[in-house]
Amino acid sequence: MKLASRIVSRALFLGGLNVQDSPLYGAERRGAPVVAFTRFSQGPIHERGYIEKPDMAVLMDPSLLTHPEAAVLAGLEDTSLLLVNSTHTEHDLRERCQTLARVVTLDITSIALDLLGHQLLSAPMAGFTAKAAGLARWSQVAEAVQMELAEVGLTQDLIQRNLGATQRAYDAAPWVGLSEPRPAPATGVRRPFVIPRLPARIATPVISAEATSLLRTTDGWRVYRPIIERRLCTRCFICFALCPEGAIQLDLQNYPVIDYAHCKGCLVCLTECPPKAISQLREDAA
Ligand code: SF4
Ligand code: SF4
Repeated sequence: MKLASRIVSRALFLGGLNVQDSPLYGAERRGAPVVAFTRFSQGPIHERGYIEKPDMAVLMDPSLLTHPEAAVLAGLEDTSLLLVNSTHTEHDLRERCQTLARVVTLDITSIALDLLGHQLLSAPMAGFTAKAAGLARWSQVAEAVQMELAEVGLTQDLIQRNLGATQRAYDAAPWVGLSEPRPAPATGVRRPFVIPRLPARIATPVISAEATSLLRTTDGWRVYRPIIERRLCTRCFICFALCPEGAIQLDLQNYPVIDYAHCKGCLVCLTECPPKAISQLREDAA
């Protein structure tokens, strides 16, 4: 999401606009949800921080749509645009999450798997966003992809394959466009935004009971579900040792068993399993 936001911002900047983008993520490791904000304007941008009423929200992982803590629909109105990487139709998603926003879906994961062989979604997601929201011409998007992917150190071969995936997403996306910006409230002099000072019991929470992390399920974060094929498993315990969530336990015969309520779908286990006994299944299809 962070890189997709950078690419869209770069494309807007190449189109002559002032741009600001800022990702936000905590200490969680791979597989955890990330949010990134993008502002753009023809004039200078003085605002900083959260965008509470976005004109558009872009969602790479549709499983977060109904996740209350992710709050991906917060601030969206009937004029807002909601772009979702999904195999489902706009109608299905609107029904499922009860939003008034204008929904557009495109199966970006399949495009990435087809052309890149992995779920590298950032560049095609940026292509989808730039076209559907009417933000940038293809030439700007292509230049932005090349610049941003070179900056993160990708090889020319991978950059070109990402370009192909981005173009396919750009071509497949409908041109919907953003609504006219809402007029700023006529409040005279704007007051500065003051960050509220949180009470210490919230700002520095203490662990007051054991095993409370069991109550925090992370199954809704998964795009892919790891599946262990027992007949291929050599019981080397590597997945058990490396799972960052402690979501793999051993059964009485010492075979690994995944706790799907707490597996966040990072696929570290799949990557590290020596005999390739772990496969992945897209949650949309599970
Ligand atoms: S079980 Fe695998 S995919 Fe799930 S959290 Fe652990 S390492 Fe990640
Ligand atoms: S890493 Fe693979 S082979 Fe080793 S215990 Fe896990 S599933 Fe079995």
